[in-house]
Amino acid sequence: MATPKLSQRPRVLVVGGGYLGLYVAKSLQKKVRVHGGIVTLVDPLPYMTYQPFLPEVMGGSIEPRHITVPHARHLRQTELVQGKVTGIDHASKTATVEGVDGESFEIPYQDVVLAAGAITKTFPIPGLAQAGIGVKRVEEAVWIRDHVQERIQFADNTTDVEARKRALRCIVVGGGFNGVETISELQDAARVQAEQCQNITPADLDFQLVEAMPKIMPEVKPETAEWVVEHLRSRGINVRLQTSLGDATDQHLKLTSMANDDTKGQVIDEFDVDTLIWTAGVMANPMVRNTDFNIEPRGRVVVDAKLRTLDADGNVIEGAWAAGDVAATPDLTGHGLPDNTCVPNAQHAVRQSKVLANNLYATRYGVGEVADYKHESLGAVAGLGYGKGVAKLVKYPLTGFLAWAAHRGYHGLAIPTVERKVRVFSGWINQAIAGRDVSGMRNLQQPHADFVDAATPKKKPAAK
Ligand SMILES: Cc1cc2nc3c(=O)[nH]c(=O)nc-3n(C[C@H](O)[C@H](O)[C@H](O)COP(=O)(O)OP(=O)(O)OC[C@H]3O[C@@H](n4cnc5c(N)ncnc54)[C@H](O)[C@@H]3O)c2cc1C
Repeated sequence: MATPKLSQRPRVLVVGGGYLGLYVAKSLQKKVRVHGGIVTLVDPLPYMTYQPFLPEVMGGSIEPRHITVPHARHLRQTELVQGKVTGIDHASKTATVEGVDGESFEIPYQDVVLAAGAITKTFPIPGLAQAGIGVKRVEEAVWIRDHVQERIQFADNTTDVEARKRALRCIVVGGGFNGVETISELQDAARVQAEQCQNITPADLDFQLVEAMPKIMPEVKPETAEWVVEHLRSRGINVRLQTSLGDATDQHLKLTSMANDDTKGQVIDEFDVDTLIWTAGVMANPMVRNTDFNIEPRGRVVVDAKLRTLDADGNVIEGAWAAGDVAATPDLTGHGLPDNTCVPNAQHAVRQSKVLANNLYATRYGVGEVADYKHESLGAVAGLGYGKGVAKLVKYPLTGFLAWAAHRGYHGLAIPTVERKVRVFSGWINQAIAGRDVSGMRNLQQPHADFVDAATPKKKPAAK
């Protein structure tokens, strides 16, 4: 592909159009134009994904498209380039981009904003890549939703006992917020679907949450985490603490003990599965390693509290900014990660985007003040299925219906743009009136099959 037609104006290049990048581009696009510049956003996807809603997509409570925010509709004054930044040479202020057709080209810039987020972090477990799927993209959430629904339909229609067990088994590895919300929403929807089946019941479902540590959800108080474990178990979810996935070859899982006793490292259970979901962590986008920026041991870009990148001697690098999941941003409240950096979450990303945009603008155009980023966490909220939730609001734990209402209220208002909020809230109203929609679609993975069959000439039956 030829290099896309690019503006000749001095450029603010935003690498990644997720939570941080979308808001930075939105804040700067008009202001930078007034000064004769241009904001250019590069992302392989044409939309931002509101990741906190991925579990509700898997559970069929939100239509997948509604959790994406299309760049073309909401960044009208930004130059949009669909592609993947594969490297940055800040010494020459040039980014290399792989376009949608796989060909590479370069984009020059005056200022760069690193906003490429995080990717799913895995470990070298045999067979995991083939057997498992992550929860980071809306496409993954849609696949999981349809796959689990299809497997339940299959189980309802098969008489093969082993195949049925395997189809109704769903293993989620990782007991953080993401894993807990994923298994809760999926099992909630699966129970509704199983109640509508003729040959299986909700009791036949085998949903298991596998966590290597003795406790789930490190973000909440131990009592709240214990409440969640009890709650999930009371719903029939098997929560396996101090257990890890040792092998997933050919979708035959081997679970090993992580307990501090003589079982440690031993295989404690093994079985076949049709659904294996991996939610055991994220890591900074490794793309930033292919740049001349200063990267700390956990793979994040080093920045100061003003969100300016720093070199290895702690000096500010001119014209380069970073925040969100890809950056090691100092947490000035003292309540961040053990290394005093911000927890990678949307709460920080959205607030950092405002500070970053203001600081970049003030530094480049001399308008306004450069300020430090400092935000005291508001807590955390999680949905555990319809009408059920858990939350830590500032310091106060909350469980059950009120926590669920807080989860929906907070995230419903936090998803960017009014039109997406309207879509999400109206979908929830539909669900409240008409119930959860678990009706599966046939052949979604191979929609072409019927047409191929219809369009393929058939041999005439031989004359008798
Ligand atoms: C399932 C799930 C649930 C979550 N729930 C919560 C929650 O309840 N509360 C909360 O606060 N946080 C939550 N988070 C975390 C939150 O979504 C992230 O912290 C937040 O999105 C980080 O914003 P970001 O802009 O740094 O990265 P992202 O939003 O991930 O955006 C990164 C962007 O960079 C793009 N990109 C990737 N590689 C390249 C490249 N090479 N070149 C150009 N662009 C690239 C991506 O396509 C993406 O658009 C959740 C995350 C997940 C996965």
